[in-house]
Amino acid sequence: MNLGVLSSGSNGNALVVEHEGQCIFFDAGLSGCEHLKRMQQAGFGAPCPLGLFVSHEHGDHSRGAGVLARKWKVPVFSTKGTFFGSGFNRQNLPAGSERFENGDTINLGPFRVTSFRISHDAIDPTGFVVEAGGARVGIATDMGEAGPLVLSMLSGCDGLVLEFNHDLEMLWDGPYPWPLKQRISSGLGHLSNDDAAALLGRIAHGGLKVCVLAHLSQENNTPELALESARRVTGDRFALVAGSRHYALPMIQIVQEVFL
Ligand SMILES: [Zn+2]
Ligand SMILES: [Zn+2]
Repeated sequence: MNLGVLSSGSNGNALVVEHEGQCIFFDAGLSGCEHLKRMQQAGFGAPCPLGLFVSHEHGDHSRGAGVLARKWKVPVFSTKGTFFGSGFNRQNLPAGSERFENGDTINLGPFRVTSFRISHDAIDPTGFVVEAGGARVGIATDMGEAGPLVLSMLSGCDGLVLEFNHDLEMLWDGPYPWPLKQRISSGLGHLSNDDAAALLGRIAHGGLKVCVLAHLSQENNTPELALESARRVTGDRFALVAGSRHYALPMIQIVQEVFL
């Protein structure tokens, strides 16, 4: 299974997971044009897309979903809350678009996608575990805190995409207005580097091959600080790579060897 991190951050999030010539998208916060450009940048060919999963209705995850789904003729999958919150309408989306309940598992071609509820100030936000070809990847961004459900869902993964949103000191000393600082650091906001590193320390295991540090704040974080927080807890046992809002990462091969 190959993982593409096309964009990660509050200006737009987009992931793609590929296996044996077929793929599924997770989130579509870029314009259709930029999404295509990033796919080329990642070295992604033209596989057969089977579906687009949207984690929650915030624009940085959902704003390009309708355009992307119609362009690729792929059905959209999200919770009912995310579906309505994003302004999706079955009449305007490709056939097969479906609303699921958090906790449901959806099988699409070689992919098995299990959804789970995360803590964020959205209507019904979702984290995902995607399995194909014996590999398991956990995806959890935009969450203010990680409870037992998140811990159990993200355990045993070969690859992770995990939010490392902000450095607490940068957030408190930074330019954001006080209410926004409170919202970000609340249990319904975003994970700090330290909280994410602690979570990673609890779910890291011998089979984990790579963790992508995702959704880094432009104003309140740097890739160096996020990587340092993760390394302090987990050392060099597996690959750590910071996602970027500005460019797509090269495709990451998961299972057996990881090539970055
Ligand atoms: Zn977001
Ligand atoms: Zn959000």
